[in-house]
Amino acid sequence: MTETTRRDEIAAGLARVEAEIAEACRAAGRDRKELTLIAVTKTYPASDVRLLAGLGVTDVGENRDQEAAAKARECADLGLSWHFIGQLQTNKVRSVVGYADVVHSVDRPRLVAALSREAVRAGRRITCLVQIALDDDPDRGGARPGEAVALADAIAGAEGLVLGGVMAVAPLEGDPGRAFARLREIAGSVRGAHPGADVISAGMSGDLAQAIANGATHLRVGTALLGRRKPFVR
Ligand SMILES: *Cc1c(COP(=O)(O)O)cnc(C)c1O
Repeated sequence: MTETTRRDEIAAGLARVEAEIAEACRAAGRDRKELTLIAVTKTYPASDVRLLAGLGVTDVGENRDQEAAAKARECADLGLSWHFIGQLQTNKVRSVVGYADVVHSVDRPRLVAALSREAVRAGRRITCLVQIALDDDPDRGGARPGEAVALADAIAGAEGLVLGGVMAVAPLEGDPGRAFARLREIAGSVRGAHPGADVISAGMSGDLAQAIANGATHLRVGTALLGRRKPFVR
């Protein structure tokens, strides 16, 4: 496939996503300017990141360090904000801190300590979101709702880190609107303790309207922009 065709394909995906966002904003009485669209580029090449940037996308998301580090390096000239949205092992933190501006998946105190140490070492300030588990599947990552405020306190008190707010992935089963309503409540208790922490990262290709209806500020959209990912083996 030629670059021109791929550009047209991505432009069409972006137009569809923006139309869906506009409609959801209208329905919820919200302003598009309150929302940041993060293009989730995992499994797609750096050339797609470059095309997205050319179409005006400013924020990209990745979930695996090795892949993300290489892409961020290749795209360093684009001035993008890089969001790390995947489960994060402490042994990857040094690498992630090298390119990520925002880490969405902070779900345990050990990770806060590691991020802080490496951010200080690199002379960087990393915005961190507390990832909340809205289901009981421990494999998908996230802190229990009851742990959210303590984890937010830990981030806010850690050198080199800035508390941004909260993040969640809707459970595979059930109504995403209900899950995002719960996330909004948790975000409220975090904001009660930390008034500036107003980020709610919620909403993917299949549930962005429900996320917007429930106060999301950051949408993480992959498939609807770039197409269905090929399954890969880790
Ligand atoms: C892959 C991924 C997304 C994007 O999902 P799509 O359904 O492709 O839009 C969003 N958030 C996280 C945490 C992801 O891993």
